Amino acid sequence: MDRRQFLQGAGAVAASLAVFELAGCTGPAPLDRSSKNPPRGRGGTFNAPSPEDTAACQETLNGNGEFIFDVHTHHVMPSGPWVQNAPETVGLILDMLPAGCSDDPRLDCVDRATYLHDLFLASDTTMTMLTDVPNSGPLTAPVPYSDALSTQKLTAGLTGGGASRLLVQNVIAPNVGPIGATLDEMSSAVQSGPPAAFKVYTAWSPTAQGFSLEDPTIGLPTVQHAHDLGVKVFVAHKGLPLVQFDPAFNHPEDIVAISRRFPDMDFVIYHAAWQPSHIEGPYDPTASVGIDSLLAALDRHNVPPNDNIWVDLATAWRQLLTQPTQAAHALGKVLSRVGQNRVMWGTDAIWFGSPQPQIMAMRAFQITAEFQDLYHYPALTDELKAAIFGLNAARLFGVDPTETRCGLTKDPLTANIEESAQLRGDGALPSAWTPHGPTTRRQVLNWLGSPATTWMPS
Ligand SMILES: [Zn+2]
Repeated sequence: MDRRQFLQGAGAVAASLAVFELAGCTGPAPLDRSSKNPPRGRGGTFNAPSPEDTAACQETLNGNGEFIFDVHTHHVMPSGPWVQNAPETVGLILDMLPAGCSDDPRLDCVDRATYLHDLFLASDTTMTMLTDVPNSGPLTAPVPYSDALSTQKLTAGLTGGGASRLLVQNVIAPNVGPIGATLDEMSSAVQSGPPAAFKVYTAWSPTAQGFSLEDPTIGLPTVQHAHDLGVKVFVAHKGLPLVQFDPAFNHPEDIVAISRRFPDMDFVIYHAAWQPSHIEGPYDPTASVGIDSLLAALDRHNVPPNDNIWVDLATAWRQLLTQPTQAAHALGKVLSRVGQNRVMWGTDAIWFGSPQPQIMAMRAFQITAEFQDLYHYPALTDELKAAIFGLNAARLFGVDPTETRCGLTKDPLTANIEESAQLRGDGALPSAWTPHGPTTRRQVLNWLGSPATTWMPS
């Protein structure tokens, strides 16, 4: 293996993980006055070999071909109407472009072609769920639903057979405009190609006015309509404040409450209510934000583990993997309370480029025996990691993880000139695959070590 390959691969990630481990045991964690129980001890470790031991790094970090279903991924359509109509959304996305983005226009760094590259060529991801940021319809959506369906079709075309590798969500904003319009939009989405889920941002509107899923004029009819349309997975972003967010409606209380009224549906809480300003420690039922606020809501509504509430780890894992003790608390809490069969892999790619370093870090991560004893957190066995990486999501979305899924044609430009010309004409392929995200050791270190505050994902 040459130096360049080494720097792009497992060795570089191993080096980064070693840095985080050292950081994890030097000095106390910063004090967080909002948490009564500041983290103590050393809760997480990375089982990563020496970065120089290339063979061992490959074995530890490169996995065994496990089924990886990333339930939380993004791209944008750089020339869509949203660029003119939703300047705050453009600002949000420009703030979270991958380090080293040099495309002009800059939104090309997170376009459809880059997405296909970063997820399916530059990572071990088997399947993805394409979602979107807050929007109120095709005129303000970075990926209008019809374009999401096109991405799905394009992916199927590039794999040239085998089972689907990409599912799509439909983001709706029932608190913007008349509720009837949202219900109609949901019906037409189901007709044009059924979404795997509907998703809402309860805290968002263009005027920063949120809504409750229990509101009998907004939330309830929306969930009821999803139910009646047969789309039985309902997703809400909770925690992780974004632009135009109303903090009064960012709490997971309403989605947990409504899960009791629709026992034949499943409810997914993106980000698990995690919030970067709140340090994750042992469960504190009085915390008003963070993962604890979700656990407290589950307790209040008597929701047992492994019921119809699910979470994904998007952004939470990416940010906490640099702080192994907090990461151990966050994972330990959702696994033991939401349930080992209800925690799903999500990365918020491609805001950070390829999710591969996040995948490698999870493969290497362990909750220490000390924290397993102290807090009754589960051991991160290979079996449990396989559940998190994809088997849980496969069950939720009715996907067979053992089905054959084909790789994307590595270089469609030369492999199939006719098809490629069309794809290029559609703006679906760049003139050549170019790497986005970190490709050198320095970039990987910067990428993994960048502080949570510099990045506002969705
Ligand atoms: Zn997101």
